[in-house]
Amino acid sequence: MNAEAERSGDIEELAEVVVIGTGAGGAVVACELAEAGVDVLLLEEGDHSARVPAGAPPLARIGALYRDGGMSGTVGNTFITVPIGRTVGGTTTINSGTCWRAPEEILERWEREFGIPALAGGGLDDEYARVEKALGVAPVPEELLGPGARLVRRGAEALGFETTPLPRNAIGCRGTGVCAFGCPRHAKQSTDVSYVPRAVAAGARLRTCARVERVLVEGGRATGVVATRLGARGEPIGTLRVRAARVVVAAGALLTPGLLAASGLAPRGSEIGLHLRLHPASRVAALFDEPVRSWEGVPQSLQVRDFEAEGIVLQGIWVPPQLLAPTLPGAGAEHEHRMSAVGRMASFGALISDTTEGRVRRIGGRSLPWYRMNASDVGRMRRALSLLSRIYFAAGAREVDPGVRQAPVLRSVAEAEALEHLPLRAADFELMAFHPMGTTRMGGDAKRSAVDPAGRLRGVSGVYVADASLFPSSSRLNPQLTIMALATRIARGMVADARTGT
Ligand SMILES: Cc1cc2nc3c(=O)[nH]c(=O)nc-3n(C[C@H](O)[C@H](O)[C@H](O)COP(=O)(O)OP(=O)(O)OC[C@H]3O[C@@H](n4cnc5c(N)ncnc54)[C@H](O)[C@@H]3O)c2cc1C
Ligand code: SF4
Repeated sequence: MNAEAERSGDIEELAEVVVIGTGAGGAVVACELAEAGVDVLLLEEGDHSARVPAGAPPLARIGALYRDGGMSGTVGNTFITVPIGRTVGGTTTINSGTCWRAPEEILERWEREFGIPALAGGGLDDEYARVEKALGVAPVPEELLGPGARLVRRGAEALGFETTPLPRNAIGCRGTGVCAFGCPRHAKQSTDVSYVPRAVAAGARLRTCARVERVLVEGGRATGVVATRLGARGEPIGTLRVRAARVVVAAGALLTPGLLAASGLAPRGSEIGLHLRLHPASRVAALFDEPVRSWEGVPQSLQVRDFEAEGIVLQGIWVPPQLLAPTLPGAGAEHEHRMSAVGRMASFGALISDTTEGRVRRIGGRSLPWYRMNASDVGRMRRALSLLSRIYFAAGAREVDPGVRQAPVLRSVAEAEALEHLPLRAADFELMAFHPMGTTRMGGDAKRSAVDPAGRLRGVSGVYVADASLFPSSSRLNPQLTIMALATRIARGMVADARTGT
């Protein structure tokens, strides 16, 4: 079909496997399958990030690369913004590049409690190592840590805490600090510059601006998908029908359950859409007398490690001034005063490994995440922000803004310590979450898991899930590497299934 005819209208395609989504999960499955000689069609609702100039302002990049302009979020006992990507590379294109393996304790629990074999005791090491090699994972070098991270290291060490440079997937990173808007140097090995091009080089076909509406099933077997083709402004310009005996759903933890429901694959009482975890996160900003120049270096380069076992992860974060402005306390002259001190300001992030379980509901054709943060997670968040505030005072901060409504400015260590005991509610924090997971969880027990340990959706033949939805619980640390390792394993299983005809 020529380019003119392609511009609008209805199209049909045939493939052995169709993969929905080009993020951490989908791109890896597509690449592994294509390199094993399978005929793969990869579908992505978003477009290539190169469609927006690298030098465009952050808000323009957010509008183009994030779903709903970055404003997707939860309803429940507070609003939590949960930004996700809608572009080739999915959320990996706009993420911070941190690449942790899941802690052994988590993998051991997933094996023991949820019946996923060969995870504990190094069972997933081979898949992890394969992904790390593909992405060039290495610790952030000292010169790219950035002055903001060095301040936190100074404060943490003064209090006797351990810090570590984060392992990242950025080859030739120059510390330009705009990872969340798509790396302009293509240093960050998001899947749009790593696994997707490899998949295409191995023969996979990629169709962008194709929003899958339904997985098609006949007689209990997958037969393909139907998608809406989208024009430059997101308007429908035609239909894409794909015939394929195997369908991999990798639309991300917020969207995979809704797509399965729209396809009639989430019967009432099923596990699909349940067990949503988010890793709720917030930030603490601090003002120093000395220049900080927080925009220099890698924004997420360092972690304070001492509190991981209690589910508190302190990791770097910095946002450009135009996005920082609305989050700072005060108005009028007071706000102007704070903004004029941006060069002396530092900020660091805190995320918690949540025990709250939310759910994704499909209402009016849209997926709506529902999440009521429980008291134990509220307490954990309060402690995380108190700890970070103490670290900043130990580093010499003049004042600290912990992102808590009742305590917009802290001026002493005593106030930072008192924060841990304030009677706070979920709605008192400025919350965001970057790691939705767990809505179509994997496991050995059909009653407790929607997907079997090979990634096969239960109750239908030929449908697989391969994204963050699979996690049976919080991964405690940043999830992308574990999503990719599981996707690697699922793809290898699919290749083996094809060879044996199962
Ligand atoms: C700002 C930010 C920073 C982060 N930093 C880190 C980090 O440093 N380290 C880390 O480990 N994790 C990080 N994450 C999280 C990580 O990127 C995600 O957990 C991961 O990308 C999820 O992978 P996935 O395959 O489940 O979904 P995604 O990567 O979100 O991919 C899903 C893809 O499916 C597409 N899609 C959805 N529905 C359809 C449909 N119907 N038809 C066609 N296509 C569809 C979407 O457009 C998207 O491209 C961060 C996230 C954010 C937002
Ligand atoms: S700091 Fe800059 S160069 Fe490095 S990965 Fe992020 S955006 Fe790319």
